[in-house]
Amino acid sequence: MLNIILCGAPGSGKGTQSAFIAQKYGLLHLSTGDVLRAEIAKGSELGKQIDALISNGNLVPDDMMFGVIENYISSLPADCKGTIFDGYPRTEAQAEALTGLLQKYNMEAIMIDLLVDEQLLIQRLIERGKVSGRKDDNLNTIRHRIAVYHNQTEPIAHYYLHQGNYYAVNGNHQMADVFLQIMRIIDRYQGQ
Ligand code: ADP
Repeated sequence: MLNIILCGAPGSGKGTQSAFIAQKYGLLHLSTGDVLRAEIAKGSELGKQIDALISNGNLVPDDMMFGVIENYISSLPADCKGTIFDGYPRTEAQAEALTGLLQKYNMEAIMIDLLVDEQLLIQRLIERGKVSGRKDDNLNTIRHRIAVYHNQTEPIAHYYLHQGNYYAVNGNHQMADVFLQIMRIIDRYQGQ
């Protein structure tokens, strides 16, 4: 079983690399952003609350995210080769919750952290905003999301570093080069 937490700032390329990894290694891809946007699309009461948070670049509360992840992990198919967690955990409390949940099923995860310079992140997200139709891909919200990332998500790298499960990748390069770095990490880890 290979569980990968793909971490990185907004615009760091998590979605793109998740698709590459999922294809190459036969893993499932869980994008919490996609799950939340699907709830918004339903137009439910919960979706409306989520929309108000996401549109302003804020995080959804940890307890709400816990429900999503618990539900996902408890219903994994028996033949699952592993999951790419894209966008979870985003806070220290979420990291601890995920460790607990994985342990319950005798699983563990490694973190792969996509490191990208801030100017490039902003440039990429502005470009994406022209086609994504996402309300949170505008300059003010992008800046806020990056600040939220620095304050709440970046510190969790230490959590995985302490566990010896942390791998950094230079995400400033082209997509194929970034994927090469990721493959090296995964192949080395699996060869252990
Ligand atoms: P990006 O990484 O580019 O910001 P995502 O699609 O991963 O985009 O997430 C979009 C938004 O969904 C986030 O800004 C946040 O509001 C919400 N979100 C996604 N995952 C989480 C999470 N684990 N905890 C709290 N909020 C989340």
